[in-house]
Amino acid sequence: MNDACDVAVVGAGPAGLVAAIEAARAGLSVTVVDEFPWPGGRLLGQLYTDPRSHGRWDGRKISRQLAQEAGELGVRILGGATVWAVGRDLSLELSGVPVGTLRPQALLLATGAAERALPVPGWTKPGVVCVGAAQTFTNVHHVAIGRRVLVAGIDPLALSVAMEMHHAGVDVAGVVLPPVSTTSGALASPERAVARLADVADLAPNGLLRAAARLAAGKLSPLAVSALRFDLVRVGGVSIGFRTALVAVEGDGRVESATLRSVAPDGTLVGPERRIEVDAVCISAGLYPLTDLAEIAGCPMVEVEELGGLVPLHGPGLETPLERLFVAGNLTGIEGAKVAIAQGRQAGCSIARSLGRATLVSPEDAARAVSDARTSSPFRFQPRIAAGRAAMAELWQQAIARGDQSA
Ligand SMILES: Cc1cc2nc3c(=O)[nH]c(=O)nc-3n(C[C@H](O)[C@H](O)[C@H](O)COP(=O)(O)OP(=O)(O)OC[C@H]3O[C@@H](n4cnc5c(N)ncnc54)[C@H](O)[C@@H]3O)c2cc1C
Repeated sequence: MNDACDVAVVGAGPAGLVAAIEAARAGLSVTVVDEFPWPGGRLLGQLYTDPRSHGRWDGRKISRQLAQEAGELGVRILGGATVWAVGRDLSLELSGVPVGTLRPQALLLATGAAERALPVPGWTKPGVVCVGAAQTFTNVHHVAIGRRVLVAGIDPLALSVAMEMHHAGVDVAGVVLPPVSTTSGALASPERAVARLADVADLAPNGLLRAAARLAAGKLSPLAVSALRFDLVRVGGVSIGFRTALVAVEGDGRVESATLRSVAPDGTLVGPERRIEVDAVCISAGLYPLTDLAEIAGCPMVEVEELGGLVPLHGPGLETPLERLFVAGNLTGIEGAKVAIAQGRQAGCSIARSLGRATLVSPEDAARAVSDARTSSPFRFQPRIAAGRAAMAELWQQAIARGDQSA
């Protein structure tokens, strides 16, 4: 393959698909490349009730609709193709179903996020999975990861997936904290777990998360934080151990049990170990932006903790300092799918304008839609996301002042 197009998009998640639709609407030829065979990205695993609209958020259905809309506008979607290099001229090297080079005028990177790993003694045994895998098995393939599952990690995504498994008939033995270690950091702290949940109290997309979050919010008076007496809260049939941590996974060739210990409010392990029988353990340790292609492209990178770590430097229209290179979605900071969709629209419009095309959506309206999506999103992965976005705006202004910006 040796093809040219106006716009190439890497990532057929919500950000990439919506950007492709918007660019195609402006009359541009668009090719979307994704290493997964089907379009949708992380949307494919999402299935929950949206408390704002009181409707069902069915990510597979939304993915199908977006892919169909893109197809009707003439967008070419190449599934099963990995982009392994980006040239300084924005050309893409592909391997997989098609092998070859794609030469676009403009490039959008919408490569999404990856899960952080969290080593625990025994974590390499068959039966230990990351929370994203549990979500995909449950909601996409309708396969139970085990008969009795322990979830380690108390955060919105972990509680959401625990509830989804519970609804699917899996016996969820409990949701507990990960162990204190150099990699778990704040994730192992009961206080921080409570604060993370309190932050999403009104937005949470399922009963377990909503109840746990409200409980946490109610307990967040200064004294209550240090008290944290509510270990093993049972909500909707699932136990949450705010003061319990997973310390090891055991089994002969596969997961057979997990060892737990109590923790003090600051996360220090206390008291004796106890063992519970489980045949699967699901670990949730947070997400980070998948930046490798942006780095290969030569885009300046900046560390913004509130956005999830290292991210490409980008401006208010999702442009980067490299001419005609744009970024959108979780690559710019970890947020929910609604924000990714709004950012996709914004990036698609910015790309069209950079190639001299008119768009129906003004830059101001596109930016407003992103903030509205942020406010109404049922998922808030990064508690200080607004501060992160403000920090990026500041870094962008500094780059312009230094004369770094060429977009
Ligand atoms: C494990 C996990 C679970 C999540 N669960 C939820 C949830 O329940 N609700 C929610 O709102 N948000 C969830 N999110 C956040 C989620 O990422 C956003 O909702 C949304 O899907 C982000 O959209 P995106 O388009 O930026 O990226 P994604 O949807 O992640 O799509 C990125 C796409 O890029 C492709 N890609 C990456 N690199 C390459 C390459 N080199 N070559 C070719 N293709 C490539 C990937 O295959 C993927 O399809 C989750 C994220 C993760 C990682």
